Amino acid sequence: MSTFNVPISNALKRVKPSATMAMSAKARALKAAGRDCISLSQGEPDFDTPEHIKEAAARAMAEGKTKYTDVDGVPELKDAIVAKFKRENGLDYKRSQVNVSPGGKPVIFNAFAATLNPGDEVVIPAPYWVSYPDMALMCGATPVFVDTTLEDGFKVRPAALAKALTPHTKWVLLNSPSNPSGAAYTADELKALAAVLLDFPQVMILTDDMYEHLTYGDFKFTTIAQVEPRLYERTLTMNGVSKAYSMTGWRIGYAAGPEALIKQMANVMGQSTSNPCSISQWAAVAALNGPQDFIPKNQKLFQGRRDLVVSMLNQARGINCPTPEGAFYVYPSIAQIIGKKTPSGAVIENDEAFATALLEAESVAVVHGAAFGLSPCFRISYATSTECLEDACTRIQRFCGSLS
Ligand code: PLP
Repeated sequence: MSTFNVPISNALKRVKPSATMAMSAKARALKAAGRDCISLSQGEPDFDTPEHIKEAAARAMAEGKTKYTDVDGVPELKDAIVAKFKRENGLDYKRSQVNVSPGGKPVIFNAFAATLNPGDEVVIPAPYWVSYPDMALMCGATPVFVDTTLEDGFKVRPAALAKALTPHTKWVLLNSPSNPSGAAYTADELKALAAVLLDFPQVMILTDDMYEHLTYGDFKFTTIAQVEPRLYERTLTMNGVSKAYSMTGWRIGYAAGPEALIKQMANVMGQSTSNPCSISQWAAVAALNGPQDFIPKNQKLFQGRRDLVVSMLNQARGINCPTPEGAFYVYPSIAQIIGKKTPSGAVIENDEAFATALLEAESVAVVHGAAFGLSPCFRISYATSTECLEDACTRIQRFCGSLS
């Protein structure tokens, strides 16, 4: 064994490994050991990338589009993104206001790297997607959390947002529909938050709209720069092809916002990653400009799964599961389970203990709420088959029924 201690940077020392990835790894290890394990911890659609998108990638390779490209995206993809924002969100952007990065995650990281200094604060409503606080920490800033409640549908109240804003706030993060809660803001709810933000002219808004195309029933998706045009010039509207087009492995995310910020994000990329994969960029052009008819079909499928999971979880003793508007997650509360004992005598002291005991007893992997900053809850991803979900929820019901 090596005796050399790798000197980790102070910024990285503040960062935790991703809890969702850790849970997926645990589930994979149990499966490899022969256990009949169901993982509901993965955040990606179980559908394959549509054929016409794969064909566009094959064509790009055949045509030799395999070299370095402009650092923050080929003009054709930027044009497809400009057209998308106009068509779907009523937002006008120029090509020079668009960034393409190797995934949605790097879009956020590049924006933070381009703007954050030590002492800056990033306001993040909780529960939050696991990477937001750690990316802020890596860039030397301080995450400031705003708790929400199940009763408020896990949506931040304007007064709570106002309380979290200080002269040090550089960014406010919005994520609708949300990972992990599935909560999505209506236009009126966004307007109320925008009214607060108008009083803080130095604050930039990063809206992560990754799950835009996964909303259910009558819910109508909107985004903050659309509902409050006065915030347009300081909003970075982020999106990507990962979830809507089942392209998680292709690594293409994008954003549009103030030209000066986009320029600095390209500067970060120029000295770190360079361009996103050229072939994936051409696949993304086909995704955005091509047929969109599979999106409502996927929505219908996901809605059926959401309804199944919500109904089955609410039949589990001690679980309270609200019905979220979008994404492919539910975020039930286990407040009534805390303090109970498993048949072997282990006390469920918190949501991490719940997830661990559930995995041990019934081989179902979920992610505990503490990983997303709001307890006692857990997250289920329903991006898996109906049979699998039925089996998993039956096991969860049995597990909850066994607690005393
Ligand atoms: N934003 C949210 C809310 C997500 O859930 C994810 C992925 O899980 C991302 C961004 C990152 O997407 P990508 O895989 O394109 O980096």
